[in-house]
Amino acid sequence: MVSRVIPVDPFDLVIFGGTGDLARRKILPGLFRRFLAGQMPEDATIIGAARSEMDDDGYRIMVQEAIVEFGGEDAARKAELDGFLQCVRYVSIDAKGEGGWKELAALVNQSRITAFYFSVAPSLFGDLAERLHHHGIADTQSRIVVEKPFGRDLVSARELNAVLAQHFNETQIYRIDHYLGKETVQNLMAVRFGNILFEPLWNSQYVDHIQITVAETVGVGGRGEYYNRSGAMRDMVQNHLMQLLCLIAMEPPSRFDPDAVRDEKLKVIRALEPVDSHEIVRGQYEKTPTEPGFREDAGDPRSRTESFIALKCHISNWRWAGTPFYLRTGKKLRVRTSEIAVVFKDAPHMIFGQEEGRHRNILSIRLQPNEGMTLGVTIKEPGPGGMRLIDVPLDMSFADALGDDVDEAPDAYERLIMDVIRGNQTLFMRGDEVEAAWAWTDPIIEGWETRNEVPKPYDVGSNGPEDAAMLMHRDGRRWREIRE
Ligand code: NAD
Repeated sequence: MVSRVIPVDPFDLVIFGGTGDLARRKILPGLFRRFLAGQMPEDATIIGAARSEMDDDGYRIMVQEAIVEFGGEDAARKAELDGFLQCVRYVSIDAKGEGGWKELAALVNQSRITAFYFSVAPSLFGDLAERLHHHGIADTQSRIVVEKPFGRDLVSARELNAVLAQHFNETQIYRIDHYLGKETVQNLMAVRFGNILFEPLWNSQYVDHIQITVAETVGVGGRGEYYNRSGAMRDMVQNHLMQLLCLIAMEPPSRFDPDAVRDEKLKVIRALEPVDSHEIVRGQYEKTPTEPGFREDAGDPRSRTESFIALKCHISNWRWAGTPFYLRTGKKLRVRTSEIAVVFKDAPHMIFGQEEGRHRNILSIRLQPNEGMTLGVTIKEPGPGGMRLIDVPLDMSFADALGDDVDEAPDAYERLIMDVIRGNQTLFMRGDEVEAAWAWTDPIIEGWETRNEVPKPYDVGSNGPEDAAMLMHRDGRRWREIRE
């Protein structure tokens, strides 16, 4: 299969925070991969802008080192890497002062597409927006990209939206949720809305329940202080899991265009019912003889922040009334995996007898590792011995079906940055979506804060606290095994 790479128009991309962790690990290696794929024009300019004092050559060395460290095998393509580095410039800038802004204004070519990636703390968003405007560097065609966390509650998210709205229209603001950039997530929309097969079954009449799991093996590492103020609900559920839930649950948009898709996602968030406290399990990983626990990682011996959460929620609309959605995510779990599982109901009548037990169709959508989809179907076990039933996967693993094209597929960040340059907001969160998500999350968090609730301890390398299993058992269901 031949992959089609359509080059984007020439652009200037300014990365505020261009020396930071995110720029080095994701943004710069991602841009290099798009350069290798022939998608980035050779006369594009990438301008790193950060506090450190250095010149273009100093920054090029840093970019090269970042690509060597985080870019995998790509870094070995020396000639191309040199070509890429020629596109790279640097300005030392102070987001809160006047230093560097005139130099930046002189570098940015406004006759072409201009994009500004705010890869800095959200407390600097307002300063950057204001100075871009004041120095005439951004205009009504420019795009700005903002990272999570987008606020820590509804009030702060509204404030951030208001700060950005002073100088930019909503059509210029790209709020990144890198889960939306994943190949499988977009494929989920293709499978749902490109086939007639699934849509008639995609409702509470045929779907028993839906599970969304994002399990990580890493702890909070060096981000302990930030994470202690955030927790799994704010860091993962309010954004990533909520976005996945929206794509699974939304009505078919009339067109695949940004506002049509985002209108439907917003309706899902607004239809979410408040969650009862007994339908939430929060957990914290405990220290082992060899590894620190969450409280040690967070540097807070009395921390009540959750590193794990499982909850059950309902969407109050005609399609989903009666079908629960179970969400769970946590750190230091047994394996790293992200999966959405659509568990269909039993066949209405089993002609093969009770002894054949329960066989259910499950559509599993894996986001990582091994992106792909599997549909579990029931068939006869081959061979003699009568009618015995087994479940087998109808495997739609991309690696098998698409071969080398999978390796060449852009990762989430690359795809999203190219979407910014193309001016396509479909896979970015709109301001009202983010606010609606906080409006649902805030009372849940306030609930456990008011009750002074202590998270349940769980072992490193486990599936989370026992109570999370109970959340499902109570309903006669169980979590899917967390598998790699
Ligand atoms: P970082 O601390 O590693 O880097 C911060 C960058 O901001 C540096 O380049 C620094 O020079 C620059 N900076 C700080 N103050 C400045 C100022 N006054 N003027 C100009 N530049 C200034 O941070 P990071 O980990 O790269 O994160 C950047 C943003 O991305 C944060 O909002 C973070 O929440 C978000 N984010 C990061 C990750 C990640 O994996 N690192 C993941 C998701 C979201």
